[in-house]
Amino acid sequence: MIKNRNLVFLGAPGAGKGTLAQMLCQEMKLAHISTGDILRNEMKNGTELGKKAQSYVTSGGLVPDDLVADMVAKRLQENDCQNGFVLDGFPRTIPQADLLEKSLSKIGKKLDMVVYFEAAEDLLIKRLTARLMCKKCNSIYNKLFTPPKNGNICDKCGIELYQRPDDSLETAKDRLRVYNEQTAPLVPYYEKKKLLKVINAELSKDKSYPELIKVLS
Ligand code: AMP
Repeated sequence: MIKNRNLVFLGAPGAGKGTLAQMLCQEMKLAHISTGDILRNEMKNGTELGKKAQSYVTSGGLVPDDLVADMVAKRLQENDCQNGFVLDGFPRTIPQADLLEKSLSKIGKKLDMVVYFEAAEDLLIKRLTARLMCKKCNSIYNKLFTPPKNGNICDKCGIELYQRPDDSLETAKDRLRVYNEQTAPLVPYYEKKKLLKVINAELSKDKSYPELIKVLS
């Protein structure tokens, strides 16, 4: 059993971090911290943070480091993180990684591993532009690879799925450019810290999940 692990899932948009994080956290009872989901929720609820984040998220840019790092620092202090967590989509810049290390050390924790989801860019674009999401439970589907059982309806909630506006071809390309410029440098950063493990994220989730479990075991 993979318990009490403090993990980061690192990789480009569309690499499958969210899908595998949902599977792992459900099975191993780890807290799933998706900064994208938290920000979309804040935007939906019209909070101050949501209003500040809106223009960045819509355009595919990054929300300023201090805003996201504070949001994560608070989330990490919640009770469900006591038995381990998966950070999905955070950190996305080197300053965010430094801020994370500081906020973890303040609460007496540290990262155990950073899993890097490696996939080629043409596949990422194909996946992003065919992705569907459930507004209620955040389940992720894909029109090409993992379609819902009935039309555009969530298998779990029975409500209509939607395409994230930032999954349009144009914004998806922008997000990949931002990833290459600002997030990819975290690969050598965590390699140097001897925390990095790589998985092949080009496989279907049924094949990449066992690979993830092997890496974590
Ligand atoms: P995601 O669901 O992880 O693809 O994130 C959706 C959007 O939320 C990103 O394109 C960013 O605008 C914003 N976002 C999520 N995580 C972060 C982060 N760690 N730093 C800055 N912006 C973020």
